Amino acid sequence: MNSTFEPVIGLEVHAQLLTKSKAFCGCTTQFGNDPNANTCPVCLGMPGVLPVLNKSVVEFAIKMGLATNCTIAPKSIFARKNYFYPDLPKGYQISQYDQPICKDGWLDVELKDGSVKHIGITRIHIEEDAGKSIHDQDPDTLVDVNRCGVPLIEIVSEPDIRSPHEAHQYLSIIKQLVTYLGICDGNMEEGSLRCDANISIRPKGREQFGTKTEVKNMNSFRNVERALEYEINRQIGLLEDGGTVVQETLLWDADKNIALPMRSKEEAHDYRYFPDPDLVPVLVDQKWISEIAATLPELPEARRNRFIGGYHLPLYDATILTQEKSLADYFEKAVALLAQKNDEGYKSVSNWTMTEVLRLMNDLHVSIDQCVVTPDRLAAMVNLISEGVISGKIGKEVFAEMLKSLDEPKVIVERLGLVQVSDTSAIEKIVDEIIARSQAQVAQYRAGKMQIFGYFVGETMKAMKGKANPKIVNEILKSKLV
Ligand code: ADP
Ligand code: ZN
Ligand code: MG
Repeated sequence: MNSTFEPVIGLEVHAQLLTKSKAFCGCTTQFGNDPNANTCPVCLGMPGVLPVLNKSVVEFAIKMGLATNCTIAPKSIFARKNYFYPDLPKGYQISQYDQPICKDGWLDVELKDGSVKHIGITRIHIEEDAGKSIHDQDPDTLVDVNRCGVPLIEIVSEPDIRSPHEAHQYLSIIKQLVTYLGICDGNMEEGSLRCDANISIRPKGREQFGTKTEVKNMNSFRNVERALEYEINRQIGLLEDGGTVVQETLLWDADKNIALPMRSKEEAHDYRYFPDPDLVPVLVDQKWISEIAATLPELPEARRNRFIGGYHLPLYDATILTQEKSLADYFEKAVALLAQKNDEGYKSVSNWTMTEVLRLMNDLHVSIDQCVVTPDRLAAMVNLISEGVISGKIGKEVFAEMLKSLDEPKVIVERLGLVQVSDTSAIEKIVDEIIARSQAQVAQYRAGKMQIFGYFVGETMKAMKGKANPKIVNEILKSKLV
């Protein structure tokens, strides 16, 4: 990136809400039903029908407002945003315009250099989704309006973001919050979380903003970063060649790694916004806000701090484990089943989760809920280690076997003969043999070359196929070698 210019970025994030029914009718929001099955006269936009607001939609929006430090408006208004498109049978989208439900929030976002960036949130408003035009199943364009009327919130940031990395971190927090709140599944690839990016550049040190463009259609975190980098460089190139940036909307093409112009940017007046005469204003009193606030779950930052304070995990572990609510839940379910609830046990569960469990999820492309090593199986295995039945090293074998069989760890250990040998006389016998055939090493050890101790441990373990209790091996060797 050229150092004489500075990017200015503002993000508009749409989150599809996980309500059971649509925003203004009783149709289901269920995904995957036959095209146009989830419809009724209201969401089809028939003349004369009346929309009725779904209360859960307002609750979900308020939850997000509270989680992002917004002011919740005592009164907000629905407006019609008029535009013509085949997937929008009504010819307008019900949205909120000059009186949104949430305003003036902010998020503190951690950056990779450890600093914290304060990003303002201009507003969060409620709106309905449009349907889908399908171009690849028939020579004609087909329309599926199942998604028409599915509730969304749009979270609009201030133009406070200054790099693709900051945008990425901000988006991660938004995703974390909506999933922790349980109001959206946060899946960018499937379009339940969508991000439009507004981008401009200005010479460093200048206060006035440049002309912005808007980039749409980035369906992953990585694509957002790449699209922003692309567009920033394109604008810098334009200005350096003496050109100007034209205000327009661009579509990101992830295969080609470029953003192509889609249309010249429409202005608010193009939409002929006006208050929807079919819907009453939304009135929210303090009592309702307090009731909703009381239902908020523990949010990511608080949970991370509790993992550090309560389980004494390092910041690194706590950050990874709380990244996704489902992973944090997994960890806490396993920890609750530990025989010895102490720091050693917590750290052990953390290690197994961060290494083996995450690797397993990655390799098999499964979510944590589909992971065959369930929290109770993991805890049972960690318990076997802490009880001295198996060593940590053998634990890896047991873990691998848990992928192949649904047996409990205890059964696996018995079946495969993995029980750790803690029988002192059995270990002593082996140690005696090794000492007898290693006179040179014994002499070195007794002459003060303490590093040679590892040789004896290694030989004993080898002779016992890794199953000897390492603690007892150490004790016996120390007593025999003096
Ligand atoms: P519009 O009227 O074009 O919709 P808004 O003022 O509503 O623009 O802002 C839409 C988004 O664009 C917001 O996220 C805002 O932070 C961002 N934005 C506004 N101006 C700029 C700019 N000059 N450069 C980058 N982003 C901007
Ligand atoms: Zn309907
Ligand atoms: Mg706007």
